[in-house]
Amino acid sequence: MLKGKTALVTGSTSGIGLGIARALAAQGAHIVLNGFGDAVQIAQLRSELAQQHGVNVLYDGADMSRADAIESMMAKALGEFGAVDVLINNAGIQHVAPVDEFPTTKWDAILAINLSAAFHTTRLALPAMKQRGWGRIVNIASAHALVASPYKSAYVAAKHGIAGLTKTVALEVAEAGITVNAVCPGYVLTPLVRQQIPDTARARGISEEAVVRDVLLAAQPTKQFVTVEQVAAFAAFLCSDAGASITGAVLPIEGGWTAH
Ligand code: NAD
Repeated sequence: MLKGKTALVTGSTSGIGLGIARALAAQGAHIVLNGFGDAVQIAQLRSELAQQHGVNVLYDGADMSRADAIESMMAKALGEFGAVDVLINNAGIQHVAPVDEFPTTKWDAILAINLSAAFHTTRLALPAMKQRGWGRIVNIASAHALVASPYKSAYVAAKHGIAGLTKTVALEVAEAGITVNAVCPGYVLTPLVRQQIPDTARARGISEEAVVRDVLLAAQPTKQFVTVEQVAAFAAFLCSDAGASITGAVLPIEGGWTAH
């Protein structure tokens, strides 16, 4: 149970982040939501989570590609709750293109949002976690933190980077009651994956149906998408007291993909 604790989930207006925010609220944690989206829908989401679980729910729309916006979001969360006890670094974007055609602005954005943002939130959350002698950091990496696929140079580089950041920070705070882990999902059918299907079809010169069958699910021996709920439950377990001895781990949840 996370009653009385506060969890900040970056990129929690959609997909995996939203699933994790729901799972942590169900455990009793106050929630700081972040991410882009329609203001009315976000307001509805806030009141839905608060009413369902009897927790406080803040929202900050910080653009995770900007260090100054991250600093102000973290200051707001720390001011309101005293600490971010659970930090879920989840916000992420994707772009699919051959490396010699990869737009440099996309490279910079992917590295900023998928990797550097986690450095900023982590450095800003740690002092209060250390003071309280308890903390949980879960970085939502990817199977692409463990293996590569063509046409995803920036994403694979950022996700391998987050695996390294995870291990390093875990070692630095291992005696402070703080665990740091990376969760590595295979394909989950969220907007992020839906949007890359047409680009992958173009890059490989095949149909969109063939991308799902022969590229995405071909990688996963189960031939099933991983679900948002499965990733959320896994993250919630890492945040529980039962997860206290799991740290510095880069943990696959990918239907057997990296067993190949
Ligand atoms: P999604 O597109 O459904 O959600 C992404 C979230 O990040 C949204 O809330 C969006 O508003 C937010 N976001 C994007 N750019 C942002 C920015 N600059 N600032 C603040 N928020 C921003 O995607 P998802 O599939 O739920 O992905 C979540 C994480 O899971 C990502 O890190 C992704 O790499 C990882 N992941 C996804 C899959 C998959 O198959 N869907 C697999 C492995 C890893």
